[in-house]
Amino acid sequence: MTELLYLRDAYLTHFSARVTGVREQAIALDRTAFYPTGGGQACDTGVLAGLAVTEVRKEGADVWHTVQGGPLPAEGDEVEGALDWTRRHQLMRTHTALHVLCGVIWNEWQVPVTGGNMEPLSARMDFEFDPLPDGFGQRVEELVNAALAADFPIEVSFLPRDTAVRDADLIRTKVNMIPESVPEIRVVDIVGLDKQADGGTHVRSTGEVGRIRVVKLENKGKGNKRVRLEVIDA
Ligand SMILES: [Zn+2]
Repeated sequence: MTELLYLRDAYLTHFSARVTGVREQAIALDRTAFYPTGGGQACDTGVLAGLAVTEVRKEGADVWHTVQGGPLPAEGDEVEGALDWTRRHQLMRTHTALHVLCGVIWNEWQVPVTGGNMEPLSARMDFEFDPLPDGFGQRVEELVNAALAADFPIEVSFLPRDTAVRDADLIRTKVNMIPESVPEIRVVDIVGLDKQADGGTHVRSTGEVGRIRVVKLENKGKGNKRVRLEVIDA
């Protein structure tokens, strides 16, 4: 089982860990700061045991790091890991921008999100609009950029499942869909704007995101409209 260090400290860039599994070009660790692909967020890259990490995946309770070259470390070895921080920080800015987008759209139009995906500094997110309001692209861009500039603080906490499922803000984001076997729910709170059960990595306040630009709006069918955006420096 791999301890997920990024859940409590998204700014951890270097760490040491013990190798718990080795297979062809992949290493499992007892703890990691590398984010594995999931929840719409692309994985981290970087260096592990002196080897380039090209992909990170969660398999059951273990995180496997795909590496290039060799030789590979042995099970039980203590190794050092270092993230590509430029990429990770771009993903954090992008992930936070998407939560701001969700919060703004809910506050303005009471429309929920249905899905999304992100790469560093670019993302798409789908919402249950039918149809999109007139002037939506420009209006949502203005609202998101105002919220980013307002520099809302972002707090990460861990709530017992019983408490989380009674929280009105979390109910809106379908916290009840999380399996009952999960005893503790991680909550990412953009204080005063958006609160979600979330396993991703985020910046400390919305000012750190920069600005967004709505690149494209797409009609993906009834009750499903796609917003494509990019994150740019403020
Ligand atoms: Zn998220």
